[in-house]
Amino acid sequence: MAKRDKIGVLDLQGGVHEHVYHLQALGIEPVRVKVAEQFDDLAGLILPGGESTCLIRLLNIFEITPKLKAAHADGMKIWGTCAGSILIANEIENDKAHLQLMDISVNRNAFGFQLDSFNTKVLVPKVSNDEIDLTFIRAPKITKVGENVEVLLKLDDYIAAAESENCLATVFHPELTPSLAFHKYFVEKCGVTVTSDLTERPDRTSWMKYARYTEVSK
Ligand code: GLN
Repeated sequence: MAKRDKIGVLDLQGGVHEHVYHLQALGIEPVRVKVAEQFDDLAGLILPGGESTCLIRLLNIFEITPKLKAAHADGMKIWGTCAGSILIANEIENDKAHLQLMDISVNRNAFGFQLDSFNTKVLVPKVSNDEIDLTFIRAPKITKVGENVEVLLKLDDYIAAAESENCLATVFHPELTPSLAFHKYFVEKCGVTVTSDLTERPDRTSWMKYARYTEVSK
């Protein structure tokens, strides 16, 4: 079995740098994954937000898909953020499913257009004792989870974060808000040690300049 002790960020399309910066703030130097051979040392892989149809096309064109699935079966945990959560879902209600690694159903673009994107601030008890800013950018909704999936955050009529033994799914973008809590949570889920005790990235990310908060009910 491969020695899996690194964290990777799939570097084909989407919000790659922001995940890298968050991991670096935690003292982790991630692998920017562009080819399948890089999966060999990974304890965990982040699939960034972006565009799920574009990401799956690139994964298939570069023949990464079967190797990603094999690495996952060999113990590499996966965190899908937004488009990434669509990629790992077993079922997409309004589209064809892709990697099918987690027993969740999602509804793509469930909040409407890009301009219907929003931010909110909530407590996610399993992940942090402090409220966390969350940003939803043309996000999907998780509409159903299987028995082996734990809901980490439910808002209004949908699930916003969930986890199974080997996957974490968030429909929002923790890499675009200052809190490092979700990144720390995933890194530790992968059995990798966080060496910094920062709880927020030192510089606020530019996205937060545009923050407009929306009330949600829990
Ligand atoms: N709307 C995108 C999709 O369906 C996801 C958006 C995102 O990752 N921020 O793939």
